Amino acid sequence: MPADFPYQDSSRPTTERVEDLLGRMTLPEKVGQMLQLDARQDLGEIVLEKLAGSILHTSPAKLVEAAELVARTRLRIPLITAEDCIHGHGFWPGATVFPTQLAMAATWDPELVEKVARITAIEAAATGIHWTFSPVLCIARDLRWGRVDETFGEDPYLIGELGAAMIRGYQGGGLTDPTAILATAKHFAGYSETQGGRDASEADISRRKLRSWFLPPFERAAQEGCAVFMLGYQSMDGVPITANKWLLNDVLKDEWGFTGTLVTDWDNVGRMVWEQKVCADYAEAAAAAVKAGNDVVMVTPAFFEGAQEAIRRGLLTENDIDAAVRRILRLKFELGLFENPRTPDAERQRAVIGAPAHTELNLEVARRSLVLLRNDGVLPLPSGGSRRIAVLGPNAHDVSAQLGDWAGNSGQVDWMPDGHPRELTSTVLDGLLKAVPADWEVVHEPGAEIVRLVPDPDGETFPDGQPRPAIAQPIPASPLRLTAATAAAEQADYAVVVVGDTVDLTGEGKSTATLELQGGQIALLDAVAATGTPMIVVLIDSKPHVLPPSALEASAIIQAFNPGMRGGQAIAELLLGLIEPTGRMPISAARHAGQQPIYYNQLRGQHGTRYADLTQDPLFAFGEGLSYTTVVYDGLTIGEPDVPADGVVRATVRLTNTGTRPALETVQVYVSDLVTSVTWAARELKAYRQVSVPAGESVTVELEVPASVCTLVDADGRRVVEAGDFELLVGPDSRPSSLHSAKFRIS
Ligand code: BGC
Repeated sequence: MPADFPYQDSSRPTTERVEDLLGRMTLPEKVGQMLQLDARQDLGEIVLEKLAGSILHTSPAKLVEAAELVARTRLRIPLITAEDCIHGHGFWPGATVFPTQLAMAATWDPELVEKVARITAIEAAATGIHWTFSPVLCIARDLRWGRVDETFGEDPYLIGELGAAMIRGYQGGGLTDPTAILATAKHFAGYSETQGGRDASEADISRRKLRSWFLPPFERAAQEGCAVFMLGYQSMDGVPITANKWLLNDVLKDEWGFTGTLVTDWDNVGRMVWEQKVCADYAEAAAAAVKAGNDVVMVTPAFFEGAQEAIRRGLLTENDIDAAVRRILRLKFELGLFENPRTPDAERQRAVIGAPAHTELNLEVARRSLVLLRNDGVLPLPSGGSRRIAVLGPNAHDVSAQLGDWAGNSGQVDWMPDGHPRELTSTVLDGLLKAVPADWEVVHEPGAEIVRLVPDPDGETFPDGQPRPAIAQPIPASPLRLTAATAAAEQADYAVVVVGDTVDLTGEGKSTATLELQGGQIALLDAVAATGTPMIVVLIDSKPHVLPPSALEASAIIQAFNPGMRGGQAIAELLLGLIEPTGRMPISAARHAGQQPIYYNQLRGQHGTRYADLTQDPLFAFGEGLSYTTVVYDGLTIGEPDVPADGVVRATVRLTNTGTRPALETVQVYVSDLVTSVTWAARELKAYRQVSVPAGESVTVELEVPASVCTLVDADGRRVVEAGDFELLVGPDSRPSSLHSAKFRIS
């Protein structure tokens, strides 16, 4: 672009360029810069009439068109293009779709997660995407919530570690790195504290509770230099998050020093009018959003007129708008978009989309994400002699269940009705067919279905015109399917039954009232169990489910969540003992939906530990997971038990692998503050280490916890270390019975 104006001259300082450009912009151009609109709509209108500064959900063809449209605008301000690259660039045909965030969290491995994000950025950047709406840093609490799959699970520390890694991966070498994309810490903050698991319900959450559990991963993200923060959908204490000045200004910007960009969630500004009904019209809503410090307004087209009207009515000044537009322009200059608008690069796409090295990493992440929860010794399947395996269940050969939400034809975009090229995904059936020895036989029967979609009786659209999702209706067990599956099981040496849920039971507005396996799945498990053939249950699902007795009594249970394109291959390798099970639960699983919420770090002080009719013990605890060997912990020793406030608690523990296969053990370190000025969690994860322990050997592991992280949030909402006695709890999972303890004192 010729440098007709100072803002086009890249040799000038950014501040000068921003001010020059801002000075040339009309009010409609400024308001338009704040808009991020849905590119599935009329792109010409979005760019040329609404003057939008940013677009999302842009198909491959429209990404090319968008760049051409910008050239026709008066000031040729480049667009920022954003997409939900949540676990890979899922809406780009053929891109690498990794396990979902929840599945990635089961690796407990920040280095792997960082590599996933790096590769996602490399693939996305080649397609002309500048910005991803990831990672989700919400704490999963009520498992009925539809978005548990998008989280890193339930623990603030683990979420912080993995979230920070993901941000580093996306943002690569910084904003000027052409392979970098902007990361988004979302949904800020408290959105996951639902009522009854209902999506976007009012969150009953105090400022102290926010500071205790919900904010730490976000503070970590701000320290990591995360470029963007996205709001949630909920209200707290009656204030819609979009208008929460305390959280957005006092905490995020003033306290944490965040200078990046804030984006609302989808039509948050409109929702204040038509859903939450706290604003009479779009002018009021626009004013509330801008005053609270929002910069980019996602998919509220009426913000365009609303913000201008707010200025006419004196609800806003042009200075208020300028402050937001300045931040947006600064970001565009810092990304270098005026010089290089980073438009789609077909040649680079051929080199990087779904590249073999990316697929290899995908396989590695899938392998590491599998959690072996039960094993009576049936696994790994013995290698000698010919065998017959019955591969059963609705998710044994289902690409969509394997990829999960935010990928292919999961429902959020309209340009991939058939999803990704079929050959890129290995289902469990594909994986086994390929991996079993030549003289083994693999037979397949789905045995059951899960749900079918039927129209919502409340109508096809919401009041804002957005489509209302269809309702998932369970498909009852079919005698024919059951007979075929049991016949296959009876004639087999092993039955691998792959059950779970579908994308129709996952995602926004798709919380579930129950946690049971839907459709004919329980009948299938019962019927296969009754055959007496050793049964291995594989769970391909978006969140932990409540399991029927037939599944709990199975010979083995593998939790795979949504394991991505290579998931089936990884599961086959695990069944056959070609790899070791190493994943650990990033979230607790319940015995009954009525146990919600079941997270491990509950506050002390309730009466007893059980319901009258059920234990409060989780079915599977946070941190839990088996190996194909046993690892014994002993000799936990604290070096110096008196630790100054600025010191470090140092301990060692010995691990002994008593079996014949290697282990990758995740040594978990919890801290319990024995007497606290306020009620606090009985134990909190503060550190962990992943350690290889060869078969038959012992290793001594050194552990460190800085005293400064042994904090609580006091009655005044301050995070403090309270001097006194603590316990260091070390072991393979969060269950009290699994943990070895040693005392220390912080002075
Ligand atoms: C979701 C966000 C997502 C955005 C854009 C919203 O409805 O809550 O997580 O990034 O849509 O697709």
